[in-house]
Amino acid sequence: EGSERSERLRALDLAAKFYNHIVMNHDAGTQGLTYLLGRNLSKKIIMDYQLGYAPQGEQTLVDFLQKRQISRETLLETNLAVERSGLLRDRFRHRVMYPIWDFQGRVVGFGARSLGGEEPKYLNTAETPLFQKGRLLYGFHRARRAIRKSGMTLLAEGYMDVLALHQAGVENAVAALGTALTPEQAVFLKRVADDVILLYDGDEAGQRAAARNLPILRQAGLNVRVARLPSGIDPDEYLKTRDASAFRVEVLETAVSGLLFELQFLTRSHPNHLTSDRLAYLKDAESILARDESAVEREEALTYLAETYQSPIEALREDVLRLRRALE
Ligand code: ATP
Ligand code: MN
Ligand code: MN
Ligand code: MN
Repeated sequence: EGSERSERLRALDLAAKFYNHIVMNHDAGTQGLTYLLGRNLSKKIIMDYQLGYAPQGEQTLVDFLQKRQISRETLLETNLAVERSGLLRDRFRHRVMYPIWDFQGRVVGFGARSLGGEEPKYLNTAETPLFQKGRLLYGFHRARRAIRKSGMTLLAEGYMDVLALHQAGVENAVAALGTALTPEQAVFLKRVADDVILLYDGDEAGQRAAARNLPILRQAGLNVRVARLPSGIDPDEYLKTRDASAFRVEVLETAVSGLLFELQFLTRSHPNHLTSDRLAYLKDAESILARDESAVEREEALTYLAETYQSPIEALREDVLRLRRALE
């Protein structure tokens, strides 16, 4: 039992070192290194985060690990290899490799990105007992201290976002692994710090993900704000043209409360919210406000609604209080 687990961890750790060695030192890894450097990642960050490259060959990693007494069973259980026509084959080939660590800093799986346009863009280790996406956060073991110190977690969408932020010196950033956030991840974050800023891509998918994950984070008792990135831009792309201090001033400091984000998100289902649909919009907005437990956030949102929709703040406040009493 315990020894199976430690052999799996050993295999995963060796695999991370293998992929990293290939990218840093080997001709077979040139394409991978060119790719990573082309994305503005330094050799230092490549080493610190053990980024790597999985070569083209059918069983390069399999051979490497078998020479180091890793069993067939372990290769399959870790999803480092798959079986094809009875033969063990490398699961990841011709991809840039991002090791994923558990909260103790042990490699438990990989994200693997295609270099060109091949689909899928990202391939992850399949769910295994060691690798459960809903219980992990990319970059957490490196971000923990900065999260504690600042009292705040920055929650981004992707590996590249976390790496770009860490490289720029914004070290309290982590990412969920491309899936919806789970309550378990939210509860875990709450144990480390009370505040979260959602740093999702400035595109449709990113905004929808923010709206979906917001209630999960709040349910865990976190204070959540939502950053607005320029349209179509993610944090990694933002940092290509701007530095960390611009990022702090323009993105972090302008993040809006979760409640304000919800009100702005609601306008999507009311395209004419400023004109013919104004009253219907305000009615829905009031019921969102009524469910918010923070009086400070409610007041801020009331001011915003009153100004944006030219509506007397007293009337809005009265409606919201009445709705709140009805909820009790
Ligand atoms: P890049 O900058 O390398 O293109 P990204 O992080 O900006 O990557 P997005 O398309 O914004 O990529 O997706 C955000 C995250 O969602 C990714 O980092 C990855 O974890 C996950 N993801 C994206 N596409 C896939 C996919 N095809 N399969 C699994 N996970 C994916
Ligand atoms: Mn995206
Ligand atoms: Mn992105
Ligand atoms: Mn990106």
